[in-house]
Amino acid sequence: MTGEPAGSPWSSLQRLGAGTLRLPGEPGFAAASEAFNKRYAGIHPSAVLSVASPGDVGRAIEWAREHDVPFTVRGRGHSYAGGSVGTDLVFDLSGLGGVQVDPSTGRVVVGGGARMGSLADELAKYDLMIPLGNSDDVGVGGLVLGGGVAGVSRVYGLTCDALLETEVMLADGSTVTCNEVEHADLFWACRGGGGGNFGVHTSFTLQAQPVPAISTCLMVWPWAHAVDVIVTAQELMRRAPDEFAVRIGASRSTDSWVSVAGQYLGPAHELRELLIPVLAVAEPSRIEIIDQDFWAARRYRRHATSADAFAVRSRFARQPLSTDAVATAVAAIDRWPGSSCPDGAGIALFTWGGAVNRMPAGATAFPHRDTLFLLSMDTSWTSEDSPDVRTANLAWLHALYDQMGSFTSNAAYVNFPDPDLANWRTAYYGANLARLADVKRRYDPDRVFCHAQAI
Ligand SMILES: Cc1cc2nc3c(=O)[nH]c(=O)nc-3n(C[C@H](O)[C@H](O)[C@H](O)COP(=O)(O)OP(=O)(O)OC[C@H]3O[C@@H](n4cnc5c(N)ncnc54)[C@H](O)[C@@H]3O)c2cc1C
Repeated sequence: MTGEPAGSPWSSLQRLGAGTLRLPGEPGFAAASEAFNKRYAGIHPSAVLSVASPGDVGRAIEWAREHDVPFTVRGRGHSYAGGSVGTDLVFDLSGLGGVQVDPSTGRVVVGGGARMGSLADELAKYDLMIPLGNSDDVGVGGLVLGGGVAGVSRVYGLTCDALLETEVMLADGSTVTCNEVEHADLFWACRGGGGGNFGVHTSFTLQAQPVPAISTCLMVWPWAHAVDVIVTAQELMRRAPDEFAVRIGASRSTDSWVSVAGQYLGPAHELRELLIPVLAVAEPSRIEIIDQDFWAARRYRRHATSADAFAVRSRFARQPLSTDAVATAVAAIDRWPGSSCPDGAGIALFTWGGAVNRMPAGATAFPHRDTLFLLSMDTSWTSEDSPDVRTANLAWLHALYDQMGSFTSNAAYVNFPDPDLANWRTAYYGANLARLADVKRRYDPDRVFCHAQAI
């Protein structure tokens, strides 16, 4: 920190030496604090502390409590709802980015601020894998604490199902190791309870598995086939083996299209057979069904959510959406008001089920274990767009969300946090809410870890 007056409220934090403190305008301030979702670009913290060790985290929490300074925990900043931005102090965990793999046991220790890409790169050296999403920059911490769904989840479960242990720095500055034996109730809560609720997780120990052989598919059809493709692809997935998972998408930008992208833990010739019903609907305008190396497939399926401003809402479906429901969504996409963001708007159905559903809903805090699809609805705009464009896009998304309520449950995925969700407590946590609130009361009675949708 430069030029900081001795009497400034931050000078004692600076003297603590618990990492690098940056104030607005200083080099590195924006990179350490800005939200991935530019919808929250106007929210700036008063200061950012980039910690470099678990000890830094403990000292920083003690300092914040002593000086009554509210803080927000930032893993890698990818919360859809700006969950890691705030106007007070931000603890930037990106310095806790290490990954250590023990190839003899498959146990992997990941720092609390590690990127998914760093974890994937280390795992690739040993041909091991953990169910991970398809983005490199998303934080492992945010992913695992909220659940974490991946293309292999129907066989290997969620990311949080691979969690063996986590080190947590609690509100009182003490550290606990929690696993099935020690602090088992906190361990339960950390698997699906969502980030920023119980403490700062300085490390996660996860169980990796040998990588499977896989093939991938990507098919795109003209918009005229949207309803038939989505209805047929859902039916196909209802009967599909767990080894097969897809994202069924309906998107609109300058053009509109429908797509099925997925991966199969088996050879491409078997995948092609599985796809026969949806290929029979109409000739795709693009089709790729190929055998792939596991890591090449991860790169191939790399998912890029809008890098500008966006909003996402989610619901769960226990059955395939009816033709009526799909036609409703497709008609809504036709009415998208538009924006200057090339990412446009749309819906995506992510296959759930298999190993995710074989775990009882109360076994971890993650409750959505009776579902077939996660329905994600999104829209995007840019900072160049007028406030009216933003308002029209949000109104469009809320209307679509409401319309889909007739066909889906009101449950929502905490890792797709939704600031506009009135019933977020029951939507995210269902029957696990009461137990989560009890764990919160015991581990953070003063609600030191607090954000707009904190338990
Ligand atoms: C491009 C993209 C792709 C995605 N793909 C997938 C996917 O395939 N599957 C999936 O399930 N989800 C996916 N997501 C959603 C993702 O799981 C969440 O956005 C996740 O919470 C982001 O974590 P983060 O650390 O980057 O974000 P942050 O905004 O830093 O953190 C999110 C929340 O977790 C808290 N937190 C983070 N780290 C810690 C920690 N160490 N200790 C305590 N609290 C912490 C923060 O305080 C905040 O409340 C994707 C998101 C994006 C943007």
